[in-house]
Amino acid sequence: MLNPEILEKWDKEYFWHPFTQMKVYREEENLIFERGEGIYLYDIKGRKFIDAISSLWCNVHGHNHPKLNKALEDQLKKVAHTTTLGSSNVPAILLAKRLVDISPEGLTKVFYSEDGAEAVEIAIKLSYQYWRNKGEKRRVFITLSEAYHGDTLGSVSLGGIDLFHGTYKDLLFETLKLPSPYLFCKERYGKLCEECKEELLNMLEELLKSRDDIVAVSLEAGIQGAAGMLPFPRGFLRGVRELTQRYGVLMIVDEVATGFGRTGSMFYCEQEGVSPDFMCLGKGITGGYLPLAATLTTEEVFNAFLGEFGELKHFYHGHTYTGNNLACAVALANLEVFEEEKTLEKLKIKIEHLSQRLEEFWELSHVGDVRQLGFMVGIELVKDKKSGEKFPYGERTGFKVAYKCRERGVFLRPLGDVMVLMPPLVIDIEELDYVIDTLKWAIESL
Ligand SMILES: *Cc1c(COP(=O)(O)O)cnc(C)c1O
Repeated sequence: MLNPEILEKWDKEYFWHPFTQMKVYREEENLIFERGEGIYLYDIKGRKFIDAISSLWCNVHGHNHPKLNKALEDQLKKVAHTTTLGSSNVPAILLAKRLVDISPEGLTKVFYSEDGAEAVEIAIKLSYQYWRNKGEKRRVFITLSEAYHGDTLGSVSLGGIDLFHGTYKDLLFETLKLPSPYLFCKERYGKLCEECKEELLNMLEELLKSRDDIVAVSLEAGIQGAAGMLPFPRGFLRGVRELTQRYGVLMIVDEVATGFGRTGSMFYCEQEGVSPDFMCLGKGITGGYLPLAATLTTEEVFNAFLGEFGELKHFYHGHTYTGNNLACAVALANLEVFEEEKTLEKLKIKIEHLSQRLEEFWELSHVGDVRQLGFMVGIELVKDKKSGEKFPYGERTGFKVAYKCRERGVFLRPLGDVMVLMPPLVIDIEELDYVIDTLKWAIESL
C-alpha cells in the first residue's frame, strides 16, 4: 500500500477532478476514500465518515453490500462484458424485463447507456427521430429554467443552469423555456400552491397551442435537484402530462436523481400517476455500484423505428459498454434487495422523521429556506435572514459548512450555498439524527 503522502501528492499532480476548481483543490486537504461499509466511508488515513450524500446521490443500500457484491462476483466469474450491438446478454435481458415490470404502465422498452446524461441524450435523439420517422419535421423542445439533465451537450441544451452551462451557450440547440416552478411560485405566491401550478400550466398550454414544431416537453420528476433541490408544486407533473397528451407532443421525464426510492416510491412518477413517453434512469439503478443508465419508452415510440433494413428507420446510437453485463447483474440485485430488505416500507417513517427534524433548521440565523422531497433535502444558507441576502459566491460558505461537518465524521457536498442531505436509503433513524445534529452544529458555527 502506498503511503498517504504519495497518494495525496499524485492526486494533486495527475488527477483533474470533475466540477472542481483545481487551484483551490490543490491548496486544500482532501478526502481520499479507500473503502466503505454500509453508510460509512473510510479514508486512507483511517478516518470514518457517514456518506450523507450517497456518493453523489446514487448509493441506495449502503457500500460493500454482501448481496450486491455477490451478484457482481458471480457475474465476474462468467464474463465481465459482451457487446449488445446486435447480440445480447443474460443480465441485460433480465434487467430490461424487471425495469418494465416496476415502471409506470405503458413503458415497455429499455435502451441502456452508462450515465444519466446519456439516458437524457438518448431520449432527445429518440424523440426527435420519432417525428422524422413519422414524416414530421419537428425540432423544438420545451424545457424548464434551472433544469439539470447532465453535462453532455444535448443534455446541457435541455438544461437551464447558467452557472454550469452559460459558457457553452453557442454550442447548444435552442429550446423554449418555462420558468423554474419553485422560483416562479416563490416570487409570485410566496409558496407552492394550486394557483401557481395553474398559472404555470396555462403558460405551457399557450406555448403548445401556438406551435406545431414541438418535439417534446422535458423535465425532472418532482424536484429540480442540481438547481438546489427546488420542488415542483404537487400535481405539476401530472398537469404537464395531461397537456402533452392533449396537444400530441412527447414528454421526457428525468428520474435520474429521483428514481429508485429517493422520493419515497420506486419512481416519483407513481406519486402523480404519470406515465411519460420517456423515463430516464441512472444514479441509483445499480445501488450506486457501477455506471449504468436506461431510457425507458413506449410501444408507440418503439414501433415508429421499425422497418426494413434499407428504410434506415433504426436508431443509429450505441456505446461500447451499452448493457454491460456486470452493471446489469448488480442492478438486478439492487432491485432484489429492495424487496428483501423492504427498503421502501422502512423508508416512510424515516422520511417523516426527517421532515420533523428539518423544522429545527428554520430557527437558525443563517438558514433562508428548507426544502424536501422524500430523501432529497436542500437547506439554503443566507448571509442575512431578514433580507434574504446571499453570501458572496466566492466565499464558498456551503463548502465551509461541509468541511466543518467532516470534523464530526459526516461527508457532505453542497450545491453552492445549499446544503444537500441525501443519505443512502438504508440509514437508520439514529444515524440520521447524528447527521442532522452535525449539520445544525456546523451551520450554527458560521
Ligand atoms: C445527476 C443527474 C443527471 C446526470 O447524470 P450523470 O450520471 O451524472 O450523467 C441527469 N439528470 C438528473 C436529474 C441528475 O440529477
